[in-house]
This record gives sequence, structure tokens and C-alpha cells, in this order.
Amino acid sequence: LSERLQNALKMFRGNGKLTEEDLKAPMREVRMALLEADVNFKVVKDFVAKVKERAVGEAIGEGLNPHQQIIKIVNEELIELLGGTQSKLTVAPKPPTVIMLVGLQGAGKTTTAGKLANYLKRKHKKPLLVAGDVYRPAAITQLQVLGEQLNVPVFTLGDKVSPVEIAQKAMEKAHSLACDTVIIDTAGRLHINEELMEELRNIKGAVHPQEILLVVDAMTGQDAVTVAESFDKELGIDGLIVTKLDGDARGGAVLSVKAVTGKPVKLIGLGEKLDALEPFHPDRMASRILGMGDILTLVEKIQSTTDLAKALEMEKKLRKDEFTLEQFLDQMQQVKKLGSLETILGLIPGMGGISQKLKEANVDEKEFDRIEAIIRSMTKKERQKPEIINGSRRKRIAAGCGMRVQDVNKLLKNFEESKKMMKRMQGMAKFASKGGFKL
Ligand code: GDP
Ligand code: MG
Repeated sequence: LSERLQNALKMFRGNGKLTEEDLKAPMREVRMALLEADVNFKVVKDFVAKVKERAVGEAIGEGLNPHQQIIKIVNEELIELLGGTQSKLTVAPKPPTVIMLVGLQGAGKTTTAGKLANYLKRKHKKPLLVAGDVYRPAAITQLQVLGEQLNVPVFTLGDKVSPVEIAQKAMEKAHSLACDTVIIDTAGRLHINEELMEELRNIKGAVHPQEILLVVDAMTGQDAVTVAESFDKELGIDGLIVTKLDGDARGGAVLSVKAVTGKPVKLIGLGEKLDALEPFHPDRMASRILGMGDILTLVEKIQSTTDLAKALEMEKKLRKDEFTLEQFLDQMQQVKKLGSLETILGLIPGMGGISQKLKEANVDEKEFDRIEAIIRSMTKKERQKPEIINGSRRKRIAAGCGMRVQDVNKLLKNFEESKKMMKRMQGMAKFASKGGFKL
């Protein structure tokens, strides 16, 4: 086998601890995935450095190969970066709890106010919606329509009264209606400006919200990070609601925002409908950003298919030079159980090269079937002692499976080469016993 293949496999060879070399190729994949997901460049840089620092020298966990170990660390660090555990909404010790929604125009504040009311109502809360955007008359009507749909009261004083006064009066209204949560919708601007911040600070000073939640649009990517930084600096925010994650937004903004501001994402919007609001789960978002669903599934698949006892037995056989055609067949069947070899290798970062190599070497699915047919036409003795297969035996085997003598010759040659190769690759069986890929 080529040097390239061996080099690629080195990446997967378990020697107890992860090395810089183990990390190189997988970390390149991770970096690419994050940048493609539109994560802030500096955040990616810090993240990769952190994973490397933790991973180098770390003992490889039971039942894992180096590659899986790296995935595990990346996943854990990503979850940590996204806030670790789910961040719940703060509730006032004495009702009502005041939630103030802030953000730029079009971010989804008014819609989110309605969704949040719906969300709280389903949790048996009694919300009051407050129309605090007095600059766009349509905004008041928009909120009133939502309130009607949800059967949630909407407080408005029209557009002639200041938002600060509206907020104050809304508190009295909440008491009289026995509402336990007040959701204040506020005005946005196209860009952050001092006038907007001043107004928001005044509302904050008047009603002391438990939660000032910044609503950002996931589609704006990196801009969301800048916006979050400014709002946090100028006003102070308690968390974020990221909307429009149902579109083709890649979620990177969510990750950067937490890393840059230190404020958690509490809820996410996944559509225009009123039920499209969900608590934010860092672990789920981590998988989404890394697109790791496939890889994790694969890891599970390999682990469940590879028979640990068999792998250990194989290692012993190899050491004692007792590797037979029967085991060869056995190995191939294990590989086949995993599905298409090419697909599988393609799923693993850094393994694309091997996939290509196998294609060149003509080890395709049909080849597997041919090899199997040939081995099946052999007697038990022939399988265990391939060296006894002489010319007449070769003819008989070929006739038995309907193939040419050359095919039988080729298989026997391949087998001898595999045997040599496997012996050369020390630790290969050890790797297999850790749930790794078998050749
Ligand atoms: P505001 O200016 O911040 O109050 O933004 P709006 O609440 O008026 O929302 C602006 C647009 O974004 C509206 O067309 C909403 O329907 C849409 N929108 C809000 N949240 C979501 C979401 O989570 N997903 C999708 N697809 N659209 C959303
Ligand atoms: Mg609005």
C-alpha cells in the first residue's frame, strides 16, 4: 500500500495519547467547518488553540480511537463555548417579571414578543404584551393582532405617549390584570444610535427588567456580533434571542455572539409562526454547527459492528502468524456490514485519500463479492493453510466459483500482501479493538 495510505492511517493509530500529529488533519476540518458556519475568525482561532491545548497529551478514552477522542473534545468545548447548559429565563421573586425585548429593526422583536407570550402561556404563565414601539404605528397594530390570536392582553397608549411612560403604566396594568409576566416590545433602528440607546436606558431605569433580551437575526451573521457588543456595552443585556434559524443561516453567529459578549443565547426563533420559539440547547447547536450528526452516527455504527472479542483474537492470530483466509473473509464481512466503503471513508475527515486509493486499487463492492465467492469454493483446509493451494487446486477452485484461475491467483497474492501489510502496521489491531476501522 502507498505511503499516503499509511500516513493517513497514522492519524488513527492509537498509542494511548493524542499527539500534535493526530490533531493536525482533524483540526483543519474543524476550523473549516467553523469558518464555513460563519463563526468569527478570532473565535475560531481561540477555539482551535484551546482544543489543541487540551487534546495534546490527553489520554484516549476507553473504547475510543484518537479520531473519536478529538471529536469528543471538540464537541465538549463547543458546547462550553455556547454556554454549557441551557440558560433559563430569570423570574422575579415578586411578580410581575419584566422582559424587555431590544434590537435593530427587522430583527424579529415584535414577532418574538408574540411567540414569547405564547411560550409562557403554555407554561401556565399570564403574560401582558406592551406596545413600546411608538415610531411605527403599524408596530402597535402588529402586536395587537398577535395578542388577539393568542388571547393575550396587549397594553398600548397609542403613539403619542413616550415609551417610558407606557412601560410604567403597563406595570400598573399588569397588577390590575394579575399578569405575572410583562413583555415589552421596543422600537428598533436600522443602525445603533445614541437616541435609541438613551430611550432604552430610560425604559430600563423606569421598570428594572429581570431580562433585557437582545433579539438578533441569525442571517446577519457577523453583524449580529457587532450589534450584540454595542447593546451590551451601551445598555447591558442579560441574554439573546436568535431568530430566523429556520432559514439557511449557518448558526455561526450564535456561537460567536456568546464567545464575544459572554451573554448566553436563551431562546431561538425557528419560523414565522407563533409556536416557532424554542429554548436554546448548546449541545444540539454544537452538533448542528459541526455538522457532526453524520460522523457521530458513523462512530456508533462502527462501534456496534466491530466485535471487540474478534478484533482481539485477530491481533493474537497476527502475532502468531496464524492469519488465514477464513479470517480474511471474516474481516471483509465486517467491513461490508458497515455499508459502502467509499461512503464511510468519505464521512471521515482526512480519509478521503484512502477512499480514492481503494478505488484505484479496485477494491470495490463487487470485488468483495468475487473474493467471497472464491474463498467459499475452498475447502476448510485450504482456507487455513493457503500455501497448500497448488495448480490443480487453483483450477478446481476457479471452476467451482465460475472464475478464472488468474482471479484465484490474484486473490492469493492479495492475501499474502495483506498479511504482510497488517503485520507491518503494528498497533493496527489495537486500533481495531478500540472500535476503529478495520481493513
Ligand atoms: P422587528 O422590527 O424587530 O419588530 O421585527 P418583526 O417582528 O416585525 O419581524 C420582521 C420579519 O421577520 C417578519 O416578517 C417576521 O415574520 C420575520 N421573522 C421573525 N422571526 C422569525 C423567525 O424566527 N423565522 C423566520 N423565518 N422569520 C422570522
Ligand atoms: Mg417591531
